[in-house]
Amino acid sequence: MSKIRVLADHVANQIAAGEVVERPASVAKELVENSIDAGATRITIEIEAGGRRLLKVSDDGEGMVRDDAVLAFERHATSKIRDSEDLAAIGTLGFRGEALASIASVARVELTTFVESGKAATRVTIDGGRMRDVKDAAHPRGTTIAVRDLFFNIPARRKFLRSEATETYHLTNLVTHYALAHPEIAFTFVNNGREVVRAAPAKDLRERAYQIFGAEFLENLLEVNGGDAQVARVSGFVSAPRDRRTSRDSQYLFVNRRFVRDRMIGRSLSEGYRSILPYGVYPAALLFIETPLEEVDVNVHPAKTEVRFRRQAAVADAVREAVKNALASGGYARPEEVEEPIITASATATATASAPPSIQAPPQPRIDFIPEPSGDEIARDIEMMIQTAQQYQPPSDFQSAKSVAFNSAEKIAKVPEPESLSQNIRPLGQLDESFIIATDDDGLLLIDQHVAHERILFDKYRALEAERRTESQQLLVPETFDLTPAQAAVFDDLAPELEIYGFELMRLSGRTVAIKATPADLPAGEARNMLAELLDTVDAERKSSARETLRDEIAASLACHAAIKVNMPLAPEKMRWLIDRLLQTSSPTTCPHGRPVILRLKTKDILKGFHRI
Ligand code: ADP
Ligand code: MG
Repeated sequence: MSKIRVLADHVANQIAAGEVVERPASVAKELVENSIDAGATRITIEIEAGGRRLLKVSDDGEGMVRDDAVLAFERHATSKIRDSEDLAAIGTLGFRGEALASIASVARVELTTFVESGKAATRVTIDGGRMRDVKDAAHPRGTTIAVRDLFFNIPARRKFLRSEATETYHLTNLVTHYALAHPEIAFTFVNNGREVVRAAPAKDLRERAYQIFGAEFLENLLEVNGGDAQVARVSGFVSAPRDRRTSRDSQYLFVNRRFVRDRMIGRSLSEGYRSILPYGVYPAALLFIETPLEEVDVNVHPAKTEVRFRRQAAVADAVREAVKNALASGGYARPEEVEEPIITASATATATASAPPSIQAPPQPRIDFIPEPSGDEIARDIEMMIQTAQQYQPPSDFQSAKSVAFNSAEKIAKVPEPESLSQNIRPLGQLDESFIIATDDDGLLLIDQHVAHERILFDKYRALEAERRTESQQLLVPETFDLTPAQAAVFDDLAPELEIYGFELMRLSGRTVAIKATPADLPAGEARNMLAELLDTVDAERKSSARETLRDEIAASLACHAAIKVNMPLAPEKMRWLIDRLLQTSSPTTCPHGRPVILRLKTKDILKGFHRI
């Protein structure tokens, strides 16, 4: 007997819903996009119980005639494209024709809609994919869709919904995104009967940002305006360098007014800040990228939150340059400066068999944005040395990075020889809440607190792994995480290695992964970032990475995410502890990514600077 069956529509829809409908916010996203596509000038989003009990979106868009209202719930039913050629230039937010079918298969949905020319409005009721009722109703021009009891028929997915507060946070974030992307549309957001956002039509992004974030936020932003129309126009706002975040949460990125989570754009944005913000610190941004429709493929992810550019590198350049220029006009950097290499790979040949690949050179230090330039040469050199330490990007190849010479500030301060470090290091205080200032018998030491802790943790994780006794912490509620197709491809390879370090991971439907436990010490909020980063690097370097390298890489990433951050005040005993532990590590002067941990300024050089010798 044959064994292959074609799945019934409602089963196929539920499967598709696994990818389109992750949580209430993803339902809201599809509904709001439909309203925008329908030409709405007013959109109201109402939720109850974090969107699980009710999620209702009303608009004053073009509405649907009765036949369309019924057809809209069929899989692959769309008014937005006709044939595959249309896929090459998609001007609407929707086009896959799966959202309504997917949503209706996992909730109780009521759609009421009216077109101007129609006699009566239509109300369609669907429960768990089954059409219950179609009848006349009253409704002004436009459409209201109420989605109740999300996942009522799929307990397994309902279990993965987070607390009401978390789901509400995601919904608020989503409404904020769309309100920013469409200043001309009025947005209202009502949570459990209370109005949380009410934004009247605004004339531009600045006015809309003001409505949503208030004057103070806006004051600190720099306007971005760059790129070119053939490849990508880049506009919006970025934060001034003093405004520092430790995650990308305040970055709102849009491509052709579609809200995206795009790593490439995020990276180019950070590159624009290179030499201005230390590694691991992120700017806030509202960035709009406009490209010709045929330059971008939006059909790479079921939830359409990822895009692919035809000329990826050119778009990356446009974003980076636009951001740099914005910083320059705010007086924070010089845009036209040529970047000269400081570190060359040839100087760093190691004993490893393979020749080290060329290492990305960090730019020359730029000290022009330091607020109070001091006349003192040494003071300036110290500033410069700090700048340089901050800009230094870890080279991509982990193994060859170990012995990179850090010679840019060579004139005045050096990475000390490990054997020259005595046990006699005394912390004096902190600089910028990021670097420990200390003395030893030879002079002054600056210790980067983040990388110092990274080194300590790296050694600890490697040791525990070698002894097979890593510790993990169970998460109360598993954290779910969506893999990109590329990440999904390496996930199965990487998962067992991660589990050695204390992760407990479970692959759910499709490309969703649940994190059930994380290594001890790793803050729960970091687990997801760490996984994403690792999956991306491993993907890029998969061919060459041996098991040991992979384990080093996991330990390094784990150490980086669990380590104390820069811009964090440390009590004297904490500094003491860091220094003591650092001195016991395998390599106290370099971090697992090859960055220097300690810089030394010799008493001799200080004396010279003061013309005492
Ligand atoms: P897609 O947006 O990809 O076309 P959907 O399943 O989201 O697919 O919607 C199916 C169709 O239903 C849309 O193409 C559109 O014609 C119609 N539709 C959905 N929501 C609305 C709305 N709010 N106003 C008018 N038409 C709508
Ligand atoms: Mg749609």
